[in-house]
Amino acid sequence: MRRPGKIVCVGRNYREHAKELGNEVPTTPVVFLKPPSSVVASGEAIVLPGGVGRIDFEGEIGLVIGSTLRKATPGQAAQGVRGVVAVNDVSARDLQKSDVQWWRAKGYDTFCPMGPEKQGTPDFAGLELITRVNGSVRQRGLSKDMLFAIPDLLSFISGAMTLEPGDVVITGTPEGVGPLQAGDVVEVEVVGWSSVRSPVVADA
Ligand code: ZN
Repeated sequence: MRRPGKIVCVGRNYREHAKELGNEVPTTPVVFLKPPSSVVASGEAIVLPGGVGRIDFEGEIGLVIGSTLRKATPGQAAQGVRGVVAVNDVSARDLQKSDVQWWRAKGYDTFCPMGPEKQGTPDFAGLELITRVNGSVRQRGLSKDMLFAIPDLLSFISGAMTLEPGDVVITGTPEGVGPLQAGDVVEVEVVGWSSVRSPVVADA
């Protein structure tokens, strides 16, 4: 699949998820990057690295940027969105705590399953996310419950780094994250827009 130029990620953007991991509710967005090399398409496997402890799924709503955004207002940012993708922000939870930076915890190969892009301008407050593991619903989130609304997030990010066409911004995960095991099948769906389905395998 064609990979984004960059993947900008927002952490702790739902109150209940921040609480379930024992984190403070942030007053400014928590932003980090995933490498393009971590992206896999729907149907491709998540490969669990060995010896790193717990590895979680995180279902997220992703926005695909359509026009260059630099120091954009929220209104300009909203107009710069080209489409929506479903994304799984796979996270090595123990490494996220023990490493100073999240380069590995969020950056292993296959740690960014991404569904096909559906183009269009969504209702940014009206998106719904569902994550299923082995067919049972584990996360259900509504974009209206985000701590920072999507146009505000894009504006904030573009104040520091230019967002370019094809870049993807993922907007945080709602409560209900949990560990993956080899043999699981995890599916993230942005209802009406995109879904990504991933079998889970252990590293050989
Ligand atoms: Zn995440």
